[in-house]
Amino acid sequence: MANSDMRYKSIISYAEIIKREDLMLQRGMNFQIKHGYSIILMSVRKGAPYKDRWHEDSGLLEYEGHDEPKRSDIDPKTLDQPLQTSAGTLTENGKFFEAASGYKAGKRKPEVVQVYEKITEGIWCDRGRYELIDATIVSDEVRKVCRFFLRPAKTPRANEPLLKQTRVIPTAIKVEVWKRDQGHCVICGRNDNLHFDHDVPYSKGGSSITAKNVRLLCARHNLSKSDKIMTFAPWLTTLASAFFSRAG
Ligand SMILES: [Zn+2]
Repeated sequence: MANSDMRYKSIISYAEIIKREDLMLQRGMNFQIKHGYSIILMSVRKGAPYKDRWHEDSGLLEYEGHDEPKRSDIDPKTLDQPLQTSAGTLTENGKFFEAASGYKAGKRKPEVVQVYEKITEGIWCDRGRYELIDATIVSDEVRKVCRFFLRPAKTPRANEPLLKQTRVIPTAIKVEVWKRDQGHCVICGRNDNLHFDHDVPYSKGGSSITAKNVRLLCARHNLSKSDKIMTFAPWLTTLASAFFSRAG
């Protein structure tokens, strides 16, 4: 299992992200925006604007750079992703690229990046901290696109307890459970700090994962259980895309 699998991962609303980071996130790439680290918003869902992906084997996040701003006269998807603005300053692509190059050249530590993943409308996941370790520019028939590579940070946030996750709950099940429990803890009805809870602990012979044995619990009720089962794992890209293509 990759490092990222060992972390406590929580479902979070966009409003909670804004509150936690204490700033308005108006775009997906935010280089050292405020607190000495960077923040990216990403998604592997169908219809996402950029082609981000998780490498399940290595735990790496491959993140696509961002396009030119939308214009009325031309489709940004036909233009090279810019490293510089017309004024000659670095774009967010440029800043991330420079940081990755600096790290590769041994000139700096990897940039620390907080990652939030959009699962579907209104459902985000706090993926924790990553380190930006590589960047490349790839050309397809149409244009040049930036691709960034991030690995799970070695040290999680101080407020992020290290808990071993034992089972993977597929994204499709998570979405189903989220809808069924209507985004609230099934015990107390709170709608913040929610986690997916595997009802019957795997260690006690919990059956294979279906929506029936997964529920939403707030952190208080999740942590009060004697046999904690952390179920936050990489979203299974293939299952997710199968689900979303069915749903779409
Ligand atoms: Zn609760």
